[in-house]
Amino acid sequence: MDFKLSEEQLEIKRAVREFCEKEFKPELALELDAKEEFPMELYKKAAELGIIGLSFPEEYGGQGYGYLETCLAIEEACRVDSSLGLAIMIGVFGSELILRHGTEEQREKYIPKVVKGEYISAAAFTEPSRGSDITKMDTTAVKYGDEWYINGTKTFITNAPIADFFLILCQTDTKIRPTYRGQTLFVVDRGTPGLEVIKQRNKLGIRCSPTGEVSLRDVKVTDWNVVGELNRGFYHTMEFFDRSRVVVAAQAVGTAQGAFEIAFRYAKTREAFGQPIIQFQQIGCRLAEIASKIEAARLLTYKAAWLIDKGEMDPMLTSMAKLYASRVAVEAADAAIQTLGGYGYMGEYRVEKYLRDAKITEIYEGTSEIQRLTILRYLLRKF
Ligand SMILES: Cc1cc2nc3c(=O)[nH]c(=O)nc-3n(C[C@H](O)[C@H](O)[C@H](O)COP(=O)(O)OP(=O)(O)OC[C@H]3O[C@@H](n4cnc5c(N)ncnc54)[C@H](O)[C@@H]3O)c2cc1C
Repeated sequence: MDFKLSEEQLEIKRAVREFCEKEFKPELALELDAKEEFPMELYKKAAELGIIGLSFPEEYGGQGYGYLETCLAIEEACRVDSSLGLAIMIGVFGSELILRHGTEEQREKYIPKVVKGEYISAAAFTEPSRGSDITKMDTTAVKYGDEWYINGTKTFITNAPIADFFLILCQTDTKIRPTYRGQTLFVVDRGTPGLEVIKQRNKLGIRCSPTGEVSLRDVKVTDWNVVGELNRGFYHTMEFFDRSRVVVAAQAVGTAQGAFEIAFRYAKTREAFGQPIIQFQQIGCRLAEIASKIEAARLLTYKAAWLIDKGEMDPMLTSMAKLYASRVAVEAADAAIQTLGGYGYMGEYRVEKYLRDAKITEIYEGTSEIQRLTILRYLLRKF
């Protein structure tokens, strides 16, 4: 067992940290947070540095690294700013479905542009009436002759307002039971007639990462747009989540670490009753406990990512990493606010933003309740 990161991995961490510390100016982060705006300029710069395409194969212009390296990068980015960091690392969300299950033509059309930051992707599973339970989709794709007609609405879709293409999970067989055996993934380009996006505003956090509702009215596509196997879309999606959840865990670790560092620095300099507040056991020991939890979350996350890269993916461990790291992120950000007292409650020190940004990690890509159910299912199989 070797817990040491390689020189190359340390270099990725250093490069991402350097880029984010230089580019993520706190004033910019606060401004974009208030305006709910995506940092497009930063995104292009990050793509030029190769940060966006870390885990994509070199033949498509990527860096050919694995999930562990992606986790290291997102952790560093979210540490520096929990919303900007997430926004620039998640522009490729869903593209992996094309990489793993798409045709060569689909890969060639989308992946090199995604890696270069020229295209942004979105993956649309959630619908107004169903999020945790996607075993049945109200969005349908029906074939007439050579054409498929997609109808339905997807909600809370990350990147939708700026995405160039969408992966959309549809019900293609409405009669089959269980219903999830009749779902198929389609890739649909922005600008296809019938596809419209409305930006969803007033989010609690991750406000630099745009979210939107996608409405599909008789959107016409062909077999070319089918991603993966017909009626296997649910399985492709579940397998996608088994991997992507580890990236959410890394987002949570970075967010926790960022909030912790602000609090720790503050506690060493802020004085009360004639001494730095870190000398008060309630403050210092709470920070020590938070640091321990962050380290535990980090180890779980790295192990889950390392197993994925070794081809030994353990969905139970990935769920454990997401469940634990997301809770630690919320706790760490809350503790940071408490450590800063009144200043923590105000925007300037950004810890209130870290708390707002942390909360989503307990909700998307499977809520914490769903992670517990997944863990329990595997435990029951195991014991
Ligand atoms: C900012 C943001 C970005 C998002 N990005 C995307 C995206 O890019 N693509 C996409 O498809 N979706 C996206 N989502 C949707 C997200 O994945 C869902 O919101 C999430 O899966 C929960 O679904 P829901 O909101 O319908 O809640 P529901 O499924 O209605 O759940 C409501 C509550 O009931 C609980 N619950 C449900 N079932 C059970 C159960 N069996 N046992 C115990 N408790 C249960 C849940 O845990 C939750 O607490 C995003 C959401 C947000 C807020």
